[in-house]
This record gives sequence, C-alpha cells and structure tokens, in this order.
Amino acid sequence: MVGAVGGVVCRLLFGDSPLLVDFTAYVSEPFGRLFLRLIFMIVLPLLFTALALGVAGLGDLGTLGRIGKKTFLYSLTVTSVSVVLGLSLVNFFQPGASLDAETRTLLQQSMPAPAPPPTSATENPVLRILYVIVPDNPFRAAAQGEMLAFMFFSLMVGIGIAISPTEKVAPLVRVLEGLYEVVMRLIELAMRLAPYGVAALLFTLTARFGLAVLTPLLGYMGVVLAGLGIHLFVTYSLLVRYLGGLSPRVFFRAVTEVMATAFSTSSSNATLPTALRVTQEKLGVPRDIASFVLTLGSTANQNGTALFEGVTILVLAQFYGVDLTFGAQVVVVVFSVLAGIGTAGVPGGSLPMMVPLLQSIGIPGEGIGIILGVDRILDMSRTVLNVTGDITAAVYVAHSEGRMPKTIP
Ligand code: ASP
Repeated sequence: MVGAVGGVVCRLLFGDSPLLVDFTAYVSEPFGRLFLRLIFMIVLPLLFTALALGVAGLGDLGTLGRIGKKTFLYSLTVTSVSVVLGLSLVNFFQPGASLDAETRTLLQQSMPAPAPPPTSATENPVLRILYVIVPDNPFRAAAQGEMLAFMFFSLMVGIGIAISPTEKVAPLVRVLEGLYEVVMRLIELAMRLAPYGVAALLFTLTARFGLAVLTPLLGYMGVVLAGLGIHLFVTYSLLVRYLGGLSPRVFFRAVTEVMATAFSTSSSNATLPTALRVTQEKLGVPRDIASFVLTLGSTANQNGTALFEGVTILVLAQFYGVDLTFGAQVVVVVFSVLAGIGTAGVPGGSLPMMVPLLQSIGIPGEGIGIILGVDRILDMSRTVLNVTGDITAAVYVAHSEGRMPKTIP
C-alpha cells in the first residue's frame, strides 16, 4: 500500500519531472530488482533439490506401492484439472487485456527485452513441446532459463535415486537434503526484505504509470479467487462424494479448522499437524494412510498453487501483450503441475518458481513485481486449497482401499 499509494501521489505531484524519473531509475527500481535477484539466485538449487528429493521420497515410501501410485495419479489428475480451470477462466475473462494500450507499450519499453520463447527444430506442435521439456544438456537448459527442461532433469534424478540401492545413494540424498535446508534459509532471509522490496517495486510501477496499471490487478485477483473458489467447492465436493464416498457437507464441516489454519499461516507445512489430526479424528482416515498422503501432499500436491501459477503466467502475458499459442499454454499447464510438485509448503513458496518460467516463455522475470503486492492474500487462499486437496486425496485413497469407517467419528 505504501509503495503503490506513494507512487501514485508522487506521480500526481511531480509528473515526469527529472527528480522523480531519477529517483525511480536509481533508487526504487534497483532496490526492487535487487530484492528480486536475491530470489532468482536461489531458484536453480531450489528447483533441483525440491524436485529430486520430492520424487526420491516417493520411492522411499514405495513399499506402500499401491497407495503411493494412487496418491500420485490422483494428485497429478486433480492438479491438472485445477490448472485447466484457472486457464479457462483467464482466457474467458482476459483480466490482463484490460490494460490500456499506452500503458502496455510503456510497460514493454521499461522492461528488458523479453527473451525469445524456446525454439526447437521442428514445427510439429507435440514434438516441439516434448523438445522443450526434455533437455539434451541440463546445464545449458539451466543457463538459458529453460526451466521446464531443467525441472524434467531434476525429476529424472529423483527417479534415479528412487530406483537405486538405498545404501549407495544415501550420501547423495543427505547432501541434497542439506542443500535444500540452506536454500530454505536463504529464501527466508530474502523474504525478510519482501515488504521493502515489494514497496519499491510497486512505487516504481505506479510512479511511472499511475493508477492505470493497478486496475487490471483487481481483475487478476478476481480470476484467481474465483478459480480457487470453484475448485474448492465444486471440484472437491464432486471428488469427495464420488471418489471418497463422503457427503461434501460432512467433509467441509470437519475440515473447517484446517482451512482456517492454512489461511492464517499461508503454509502447508505449518498446517500439516492440524491436517493430520483432523483427518484421522474427524474423518476417520486410518493413520498410515493419513500420514503418508498428507505428508507427501504438503509438498507434492498443491492444487491451489498450480492454479495460481497458471493464471498468473497467462495474465502477465496479457499484460505484456505476449501472445501465448495453444501449444505455449499446454507448456504452462505442464509447468504449473510440476511447480505444484516442486513448491515448498511455505509462505510465498511458489514465487521463486514463477520467475524463470516467465522468462522462458518470453516475459521478463521482473514482471512478477506487478503482482507481488497482492500476493499475500492470494497465498493465504491458495494454501487453503493445497491442504484441503491433500485431505480429499487421503479420503479417496482410504475409501478406495475399503478402509473408511462406516460412520464418521
Ligand atoms: N504458501 C503455499 C503453501 O504453503 C505455497 C505457495 O503457493 O506459495 O502451500
């Protein structure tokens, strides 16, 4: 608020005077960018460790075989549904397109030239998407910001770990766990700067463009919240009823406490203890299933985050006037689903994931600064879905195993 309102007021007072132009160019913009660069800096190690460990963990619990597979497939399917829902809403409402042409041109000029979208030697759309996803050189993919390819490599390393003899890869897993810890601490440090960094970014934006750039943000928030709301109340109700054999009313009454915790903490990890307790005590899911599905889900099954990321990428593309073809949108879906697996269950955990993808589809990573100011409320809301989605998965798995109690406790 301080950043955005300050920028608007300064613009009214000073207009295009050199004083304000210099202040934004030499003070507020560099400060905001440095904050973003601190986040960009940790993206590669974060992606690599989170995805590799996430998938390796699946193998660890592979003794639970059937349950593991069910959870994974359920999670992939429901996450894809959430992303497709979000993207459909964006395509329908086009919240980013309401930006007036003049502001859009200014916005485009103020940002570094967008990187060209990844190209490959074939015109066949399906093959092209596959080539974008499967790298021939993971280091080059990383260096060139082809994040989807790098994520694929990280996933494969995770699979490799999962199918290797445990005692031989244990040291590697420990190193990755250590690196993951370090990365988490660094994100925490960077996030301490967030209030100032975000204020600086928003100040720069509104001091340059005035209010015009803020109005479409409301449309964007509306679309994210609508998508989350539909997925929460419609998709989950259907899933709980038809795959979980439970009345949605009973379900939602039982999980209210979990939803409130998720909303107030903005963190799936912090909500895990409450979710575990409620799922067992109020829904009667057996302990082994609840702990397996919910623990895995708190990092690997994030429907709300995936929906949010898909919507945000598309809306920012509209902001910048980048035309995303159907093929590019499919890439966005794949990425968002992967990001749902790789995002840490901490406040703002999805933000570092967004930046490189934006770049790889031709939108400057700094674009994320536009939405950072409204992210907290969206973060609280998407976390509710992330956690509730895990519980629907637990209910589904328990029901399909014939292990739900006849009457709910
Ligand atoms: N805050 C989310 C969670 O903990 C992650 C995110 O989308 O930023 O589930």
